[in-house]
Amino acid sequence: MSDPLRSIEKRFPGVPTLEGAGVRLRRSFSNPEVPLFDPFLLLDRFGSTNPADYMAGFPWHPHRGIETVTYVLDGRVAHGDTLGNEGVIGPGDVQWMNSGSGIIHQEMPQRTEGLFEGFQLWVNLPAKEKMSVPAYRGLTSQDFPTVTSDEGARVKVVAGEFGGSHGPVEGIPVDPTYLDVTVPPGQPFELPTHPGYTAFAHAVDGSGTFAGTDTGPVAAGETVLFGPGRGVQSRAGPDGFRYLLVTGRPLHEPVAWYGPIVMNNRSELVTAMQELDRGEFIHHRRPIVEE
Ligand code: FE
Repeated sequence: MSDPLRSIEKRFPGVPTLEGAGVRLRRSFSNPEVPLFDPFLLLDRFGSTNPADYMAGFPWHPHRGIETVTYVLDGRVAHGDTLGNEGVIGPGDVQWMNSGSGIIHQEMPQRTEGLFEGFQLWVNLPAKEKMSVPAYRGLTSQDFPTVTSDEGARVKVVAGEFGGSHGPVEGIPVDPTYLDVTVPPGQPFELPTHPGYTAFAHAVDGSGTFAGTDTGPVAAGETVLFGPGRGVQSRAGPDGFRYLLVTGRPLHEPVAWYGPIVMNNRSELVTAMQELDRGEFIHHRRPIVEE
């Protein structure tokens, strides 16, 4: 008997949250949800037409033990770090940053006419990679393949594979798939997922249902965590359905989390804090910079 399709295990409406130096965003999941989304730690969605909601940005702060994935839909984010990496990502662009042993960086939205919108996802690192050499991947919208399915669904492949097309982000320890899916009104669409991997979707625009769901349509802004199964089947509502589908290999390791630092135990957090105090936080001064 083949595995069934994945059905929704839990729904997350998103919680209004003030983050950074005063950025208004919606937090889909975070610290309280550990280990439900393992290997994913956090998903934030920022989105506003009012610069006062985002201009304060995320000034200088450290990270250790995680990867942060910033996906901009509208507007621009400038980033820089103490190691000399800097850049600006705009609509459709992704920054996939491995903090490894430690970086201190800032992420500052730029004033935009109209909508400023995007996501930040935190991906956990396995214990043996937490003190690895930091790495930046700055990817522009043209770097990502977009595949159109027989049903007319458009799939942008950020990481992983769909329909034979591979995303440009490879070599990530938890083997993530990150897809931006747009399904036309009323259409069904099925995506295979790796059995045993964690899978969730975030509704970007419109609404739709997922197979095995009797709790009503999933609307823009909601995040749903799927149970086990061979794949995810959606059906778009009358306005179409755009969603992010993210999957990854769970780590099943202990999580010790303090702010922007996520390790495996408390003593590693204490060490990180002591190193910050002493100015010894940065272990690798020359990160690998990848285009
Ligand atoms: Fe950051």
